Amino acid sequence: MRADTLVALDSDGTVLDTMGPKQHRFLQPMLADALGMGPLREAYFACADFVNLRSAARGITRFNAILLALTLFNRHPDVRAAGFPPFDLTDLRAFVASGLPQSDAALGGWLRDHPSPFLETLRAWGRAVNAAILASGLRFDPFPGVPETLAALHARSAVAVVSQSPAAVLRQDWDAHGLLRFVDDLAGQERGVKAVQLRSAAEGFAPGRVLMVGDAYGDLQAAQALGCPFFPILPGREADSWRELAEEAYPAFLEGRYDPAPRLAAFTHALPPPDSPPWEAGAVTNRGPRD
Ligand SMILES: [Mg+2]
Repeated sequence: MRADTLVALDSDGTVLDTMGPKQHRFLQPMLADALGMGPLREAYFACADFVNLRSAARGITRFNAILLALTLFNRHPDVRAAGFPPFDLTDLRAFVASGLPQSDAALGGWLRDHPSPFLETLRAWGRAVNAAILASGLRFDPFPGVPETLAALHARSAVAVVSQSPAAVLRQDWDAHGLLRFVDDLAGQERGVKAVQLRSAAEGFAPGRVLMVGDAYGDLQAAQALGCPFFPILPGREADSWRELAEEAYPAFLEGRYDPAPRLAAFTHALPPPDSPPWEAGAVTNRGPRD
């Protein structure tokens, strides 16, 4: 019998613990090297951690995130104290504002008409990062509690994956942990932006019978576009979030009495605006453990 409820799941940062490891092992140190940050790399790591992991910008595309992180870096107290010349972000801002896809191919096309040594450096960095992640053979683990909970969801509901990763990468990552058997429909970036993916996955289900689970504002916005309830996996509290999903939210959703409001409040609190890092509010910077 076909299930009459659907649980749609984001992948990176929701099911799989990919975001911190990718930032800390590849994206951040390789950019600090590419841009010659020297002893100020720690300041950049703080900026990039905040933007990518602990702000409302969590989950945005790579060049958008770099623009935000370097904007914070340019005005970081350690950078100013060191007299480090700020990066000229004009070319990066123009590329991001173009609205082109932030792929290597699109950047290459843009560079033909808009020569920029700075963007050339970022393009080389992006390629080196992709190659390094691939060559590392690094496998991203699911958060604690995920396999058991996916099995429980799949016993009662249809399960869909909606993600901006390529479908082939998703298949590989989910299969590595035996998670594909809990998935009825897997949508990657080839099926459009997340809201479009969710709409197509949810075809045939009443919006109130669809639950979107995600870790970033893009996931929430996709849920809002469909008019379905959202359950957030809170950054830094992933295991607790999955337990609450399994024990409280999902059973309530099945009975039509899930109230997302309190969890949305916690989600908003956990992800403040990306231009207001804690150190600028005079608070003590808490970077958390690095992996
Ligand atoms: Mg995500």
